Amino acid sequence: HAKRLGGDRIEAFRPSLRAHSEDMLALESDLRRALEREEIKVLYQPIIRLADDTVAGFEALLRWDHPRRGRLPAGEFIPLAERTGLIIPLGLFVLERAARQLAQWQEELGSEPPIFVSVNVSSRQLIRHDLINDVKAVLSRVDIARGTLKIEITESLVMENPEYAAKVLTRIKELGASLALDDFGTGYSSLAYLQRFPFDSIKIDRQFVHGDGKERPVLLRSIVSLAHDLGMEVIAEGAESDADVHELRGLKAEYAQGFHYGQPMTTDEARKLLARKLRQAAQ
Ligand code: C2E
Ligand code: MG
Ligand code: MG
Ligand code: MG
Repeated sequence: HAKRLGGDRIEAFRPSLRAHSEDMLALESDLRRALEREEIKVLYQPIIRLADDTVAGFEALLRWDHPRRGRLPAGEFIPLAERTGLIIPLGLFVLERAARQLAQWQEELGSEPPIFVSVNVSSRQLIRHDLINDVKAVLSRVDIARGTLKIEITESLVMENPEYAAKVLTRIKELGASLALDDFGTGYSSLAYLQRFPFDSIKIDRQFVHGDGKERPVLLRSIVSLAHDLGMEVIAEGAESDADVHELRGLKAEYAQGFHYGQPMTTDEARKLLARKLRQAAQ
């Protein structure tokens, strides 16, 4: 992210640099041990099918229960994990864990269409590690419906090396996973890439979904119709209010995700939500 790089550069001129970097070093060594100490948790945020208000799937999101700092959101350690390469073991962990959870939910629910789970993948994983083999290995170990493991990739990631990214993504799709373009509208993407990559869905960044910016509704409408014209489904991120949901329904967006429907939650909470939704559907 250009924004993050810029932020780091400004950081270097601050007198607190030393304390700051010692802090980061401590955090880095803590993060090295966090996985084996089972401090890393996978939470699941519901994604709702707008046509019938049912739970269509979940996005797996990492949290770190740090022994002294408390629960850290992804934004406070994923960038560090990316810089240090620790994102490789972390990424494998969340992929494996989320796929197993998905298999369990599909077995319990047997719903049609089957529930999906999406997992975020960062550039380090795509570029420096054999993501294709990781996905292949995970899919061979778990029994899930084709296309229900979704891999989320951000625009900036795809832009770094489009040729290579296209190859890897095509292969991952052939293996039976599906692909979502994350945070759409925030990067410097060329619209041409939308055609060149085999994305099944676009996740519209929350800045277009919620807020009272004057141009926001126009941009939202345009992004939804662009996605649909290209044969992709839309997942709207950051739906926080009744009005957001109402607007998205009017635009025929397929899915919404956001605090209006639920925060990232534990598997127990997710199970309760699924049971409640199933009861509602049966009524
Ligand atoms: P993301 O993939 O775009 O995930 C959506 C983020 O928006 C999550 O933040 C989620 O908690 C937050 N969110 C959801 N609904 C709302 C809403 O209604 N309003 C607002 N204001 N925010 C909402 P989170 O969990 O802190 O994750 C931040 C980012 O960290 C993620 O953005 C993703 O890029 C990255 N991340 C999280 N887990 C993983 C992971 O397992 N691997 C990788 N590589 N990155 C991850
Ligand atoms: Mg995501
Ligand atoms: Mg996103
Ligand atoms: Mg994001």
